[in-house]
Amino acid sequence: MARVGFIGLGNMGGGMAANLAKAGHEVLAFDLSQPALDRASANGCTIAESAEAAVAGAEAVVTMLPAGKHVADVYRSNVLKNVPKSAILMDCSTIDVATAKSVEAEASAAGFTMVDAPVSGGIAAADAGTLTFMVGGSADGFERARPFLEQMGKAVIHAGGPGAGQAAKICNNMLLGATMAATCEAFVLAEKLGLDAQTFFDISSKASGQSWSMTSYCPVPGVGPETPADRNYDGGFAAVLMLKDLKLAMEAAREAGAYTPMGGEAEELYQRFVERGGGSKDFSALIKMIDDSWVAEADKG
Ligand code: NAD
Repeated sequence: MARVGFIGLGNMGGGMAANLAKAGHEVLAFDLSQPALDRASANGCTIAESAEAAVAGAEAVVTMLPAGKHVADVYRSNVLKNVPKSAILMDCSTIDVATAKSVEAEASAAGFTMVDAPVSGGIAAADAGTLTFMVGGSADGFERARPFLEQMGKAVIHAGGPGAGQAAKICNNMLLGATMAATCEAFVLAEKLGLDAQTFFDISSKASGQSWSMTSYCPVPGVGPETPADRNYDGGFAAVLMLKDLKLAMEAAREAGAYTPMGGEAEELYQRFVERGGGSKDFSALIKMIDDSWVAEADKG
């Protein structure tokens, strides 16, 4: 078992660090938030007084931070200056491809092995240890990261070189955002044309309009398998996080010169939904803005 420095113990990182501790690692955990530290302590982690203390002497480092600027700052200011060169560095945050590549390049130039390993699966999967990891980095980096990632997830896939994990994550989520928006539109139009939602689901989920958004995550309550739509769109994958991933995808598309009009349209729709107070709802609640029935909690009086 190894000594693991873990930085970022929020909604996702808290459960991930707990699973590493449960697997028998000595997890030295750091976060800026005291409640996050208290939870990590209750879950078998040792609390470090600083990011430097968390990574000193570590054989592996995991970071699970909000965005690219936090990751770049933590690696430049803390990790790369204090961790032994022999440690494997794993950033599991969802961040922009350009920052993922530049931080890896700095780590590599300083003699470290680093992978980007963003995850698919939400807070429940982080707690249960059933995340899917998409890993970018060298073959050696992937093999060294794999045993740790397997203790936090159900699938660990090598996507390619540095930044490829982030690229896979945002391409997948751009597709998801666009198919969810299209699925919401199709249900709204079907209803206006007099079709019963269940009947439309039975047809389309077996026909060529089928997608995961339709068949496994239907945005209409009472139709298909149980989803956040059946729980007033609470829990699940928050619309604000979908918007974050769509923005990352559009930023990457601009830099790469890719034409992504559907992704752009999805970004605009989610931006509007978040501005109208839907950010904390599951991303499938977009259907309520499309059918014009959305009333934000704040406006309900
Ligand atoms: P979160 O905001 O709950 O947690 C982030 C944690 O990082 C916070 O506890 C914060 O205090 C800490 N932090 C920020 N700056 C720090 C610093 N300099 N040093 C130490 N700690 C610092 O976010 P989350 O929901 O856990 O998401 C983390 C990452 O995972 C994000 O990139 C997110 O996009 C991605 N993600 C989230 C989900 C989800 O469903 N929540 C799903 C997949 C991926």
